[in-house]
Amino acid sequence: MIKFLDLQQINKRFETEFQQKFQQFLNSGHYILGTEVETFETDFANYCGTKFCLGTSNGLDALTLIFKAYLELGILKPGDQVMLPANTFFASVLSVIHSGLHPIFIEPERDTFNISVKDIEKQLTPHVKAIMVVHLYGQLANMEVINQLAEKHKLLVIEDAAQAHGAVFNSEFKIQDSELINQKAGNLGHAAAFSFYPSKNLGALGDGGAITTNDIVLFETIKKLRNYGSDKKYEYQLKGFNNRLDEVQAMFLNVKLKYLDADNEKRQTIAKRYLSDISTNKIALPFYDGSKNHVFHLFVVTVKDRENFVSYLKKQDIETLIHYPIPPHKQKALVSFNHLSLPVTENIHETVVSLPMSPVMTEQEVSKVIKAINSY
Ligand SMILES: *Cc1c(COP(=O)(O)O)cnc(C)c1O
Repeated sequence: MIKFLDLQQINKRFETEFQQKFQQFLNSGHYILGTEVETFETDFANYCGTKFCLGTSNGLDALTLIFKAYLELGILKPGDQVMLPANTFFASVLSVIHSGLHPIFIEPERDTFNISVKDIEKQLTPHVKAIMVVHLYGQLANMEVINQLAEKHKLLVIEDAAQAHGAVFNSEFKIQDSELINQKAGNLGHAAAFSFYPSKNLGALGDGGAITTNDIVLFETIKKLRNYGSDKKYEYQLKGFNNRLDEVQAMFLNVKLKYLDADNEKRQTIAKRYLSDISTNKIALPFYDGSKNHVFHLFVVTVKDRENFVSYLKKQDIETLIHYPIPPHKQKALVSFNHLSLPVTENIHETVVSLPMSPVMTEQEVSKVIKAINSY
């Protein structure tokens, strides 16, 4: 059986290191916002190339804290509109709504699955104050053009980088001398949120998240907000929350961060094999320029008769998943948005299938998936 993603195998690789670190952690006697979180924040900021990083309880809280901090600072006002791709994971939308802001769903580009710049331009009004990009499936959005647009219209750019740890911007979009070239996800807008949910490219063994930014005022505000509104024990400047990253999860992340680049390269190698060796025209393969700007959190194909395809692969002992079966605007929780018609997004949700993809997949497993698909 070829698993979609074998989390046990992924983490088993670090068993000895985890055990050694746990012994130190136990003996430290310091279990909240201690040296593990501090080390992770320094190292992850360095990794992303940003000045600041703050660990958070999870990815949803990381996104929400960014919006709440901008509201706290008066840079956003309640009811302001935030554009975001209509085909995203539900949590991206929740962060906007829970912050008292209004989501504007923008259709994606068909080839990259990422937010369409043309549609942003078409739907831009003075009510829109921010764009949330989601580097969906691990591929960076068209940041150069989005940032230019944002600068022109004085909009905030927030990255939902929950699927794109380690993705590097390149010249794919043919704009030379861009200051973004060689910058990583997390350093491509005003602020970014990451999730370390176990299945992400950098995954904890439980919940975790982080915010990266170069903005010291935003950083200081979020630092308070995630810790009851306080940066000094028993003194509260803001009405904050408990949204801290746990020490134990930071400990796991400190071990695993060292292996993130190698794991992403493994994913890119598998993606390249899928792209070169899958030869049937019954499925459509994803766009990939061969660079580091896609870290293949997911390898997503589209197929018209999805049910057949999925059950065919299942019979061949190959597990697949669907990311995602129902778009946010069609969810029961968002009844006031259910009337929206977003045909590109809806078609994507009806046809996508995610193939097995992980840094612990063997060459033989990849070959087996390719062979099965080619005889579909
Ligand atoms: C995983 C994910 C989130 C939410 O992260 P959690 O840590 O599960 O809260 C948000 N946005 C995207 C795109 C994600 O993939």
